[in-house]
Amino acid sequence: MSVAGVARRGAKRRAPAIAVLAMAVLVAACPAPPEKAAYKRQFFTLGTVVEVNLWGVEEARAAEAVRTVEAVMNDAHVRWHAWEPSELTRLNEALAEGRSVEVSPETAEALRRARDLAAQGGELFNPAIGRLIGLWGFHSSDPPLGPPPPPEAIRALVEAAPAMDALRIEGTRVGGANPAVQLDLGAFAKGYAVDRAIEALRDLGIENAIVNAGGDLRAIGRHGDRPWRIGIRQPANQGGVLASVETRGDESVFTSGNYERYFDYEGRRYHHILDPRDGYPAQRTLSVTVIHGEAAAADAAATALFVAGPEGWAAVARRMGISQVMLIDADMKVYMSPEMARRVHFEVQPPPATIVVDDPA
Ligand code: AMP
Ligand code: MG
Repeated sequence: MSVAGVARRGAKRRAPAIAVLAMAVLVAACPAPPEKAAYKRQFFTLGTVVEVNLWGVEEARAAEAVRTVEAVMNDAHVRWHAWEPSELTRLNEALAEGRSVEVSPETAEALRRARDLAAQGGELFNPAIGRLIGLWGFHSSDPPLGPPPPPEAIRALVEAAPAMDALRIEGTRVGGANPAVQLDLGAFAKGYAVDRAIEALRDLGIENAIVNAGGDLRAIGRHGDRPWRIGIRQPANQGGVLASVETRGDESVFTSGNYERYFDYEGRRYHHILDPRDGYPAQRTLSVTVIHGEAAAADAAATALFVAGPEGWAAVARRMGISQVMLIDADMKVYMSPEMARRVHFEVQPPPATIVVDDPA
């Protein structure tokens, strides 16, 4: 890995007070008076607030479009819930018993995409580790309180080697070669659903929109005569905007952060992004932001690069075909790919130290 352009260290510096939404990413407000062309609605699904922003769409059509997006995203929520009875939990029961089952075409398609992305990401994004995620207590709407699970229980689940390549997907029939595989699409379903929502908006003839699921989003078109502007949140509990980017045409911005779901136990923090290689929360990263066309790939990649950490992310990004990445490590060092570095605008003064990694070999 070669490092080009090391700027000042800024680990301890604070962000100025900037008003933020309680989301990882926000759509920058325009200083102009309320514009009739802008239409914004929120609803709750997939465990988060989803905000739909439309530009230049007449009110009745906009309302209809938001209802469509809500239906699409809610479908993903209901189908792929990891612990409440769903198509996914029924499939997981079958996999545990070594049976194959019929699933919907939607689920078969999503599993194929997830399996491809897991392979590209060297299984660091591994949606087959549902049992481990459950063992850590993250199959609950509230974060667990601890203690962490016994090391031998973690080891046993890692050694059972659940992986997506053990899935057999033939048409809409799904089975598996490894009963340890339990699917959890938490690192991917949001992105996949956002892609389907954008597709639905396009089918309705809408060309300027953002579908923002709890700060992870895909933006198409523009906000009138200017691009959509997206904020990237500080990787800390208090939030705040670290940086912003203007989206170009059709782009997704997804962040994985250790601050999203965690518990503190006996002075240590245990969060929800697990390293499938050892079964423990990945230690070296605070957050990863990925910009990419397809939201499903951006979502899966953000998780995989989080696990890969400051030493491994660039090589995994290359394998996944991801060229725009910002990773903040446990020392608050900011690593970026050259393409990300060229377009990101820091909103904090002074800007943090950045390390631009241009050779992931
Ligand atoms: P994200 O915020 O997209 O990184 O997704 C995190 C969620 O994905 C967690 O809450 C778990 O449900 C699940 N998860 C945790 N670790 C992994 C992993 N290594 N691969 C796939 N899914 C994971
Ligand atoms: Mg993800």
